[in-house]
Amino acid sequence: MFTNKTMNIVNIMNKIKMKQYRYFLDKSSKKFVCPKCQKRTFVKYYDFETQGYLSDDFGRCDRETNCRYHNSPKGLICGAFEVKEARQSYHDFDLVKKSCRNHKSNNLIKFLETIFTIDEVREVVSKYFIGTSMFWGGATIFWQIDNEQKVRHGKVMLFNQNTGKRMKKEDGKAYISSIRSLLKLKDFNIKQCLFGLHLVGEENKKTIAIVESEKTAIIMSIFKPELIWLATGMKSGFNFELLKPIIKYKIVAFPDKCEYDDWLKKAIELNNIGFKIIVNDWLEHTDFAKGTDLADVYINSLID
Ligand SMILES: [Zn+2]
Repeated sequence: MFTNKTMNIVNIMNKIKMKQYRYFLDKSSKKFVCPKCQKRTFVKYYDFETQGYLSDDFGRCDRETNCRYHNSPKGLICGAFEVKEARQSYHDFDLVKKSCRNHKSNNLIKFLETIFTIDEVREVVSKYFIGTSMFWGGATIFWQIDNEQKVRHGKVMLFNQNTGKRMKKEDGKAYISSIRSLLKLKDFNIKQCLFGLHLVGEENKKTIAIVESEKTAIIMSIFKPELIWLATGMKSGFNFELLKPIIKYKIVAFPDKCEYDDWLKKAIELNNIGFKIIVNDWLEHTDFAKGTDLADVYINSLID
């Protein structure tokens, strides 16, 4: 006969085998910012099914006497384990150098040459290591190189050489890929960083400006060279993980039109844990269309 306790253990083992459990608390050393007390004492829930963390509000604060925040997902929770993260991979820098060679056929660079001088374009091409991929004929590679000069990711996008806008396929989807998929690197674990992060260093004390798109960062660095222009690469990229390496710097964020509220909310959270971010609201108070970014405005002002 099983005692009650043994019976429980047997049940739990069976449930694990049957994968009825979906979530568990990740007790590895990775701590996040607690949504309640804003300290880095927050343990997040991990989802077996999606193989990733749940959103930032699901988890438990380790400050059991002072904060006690605990928000658990609905569903079977299987205690606390450690998530071992796969080791991060890097691309060889030679790949970057090679990709910077045939920039004459790069659509984005051709577009930049219609607005700026050859010298100005040449300077940003080498500053941001703007690469060219012949995969779609004239596509651009935005290399994500971190502040240790390690190459984390290569994002491949196709632009129209006359308008500078992104090209779309017949099904309406944009041309976008990565060096990892183009080279079919199966075991390559991408951990993204801010685009342009390699320009940030101890010797460079300039204020940092953050925008969403890589193209905007590049263009704005010609218009406003007194700032270091970085890009999040995606709307959701304005977050702690990506901004962590620049916590010591003065930061001005320039969200796209209609993204101001989201970025402001995030900036307030981040400033509470030591960041110095100002969110610029100029674009938000203009009549420009949703999604307009700073580079669009500057370029328009040249044409008008
Ligand atoms: Zn807390």
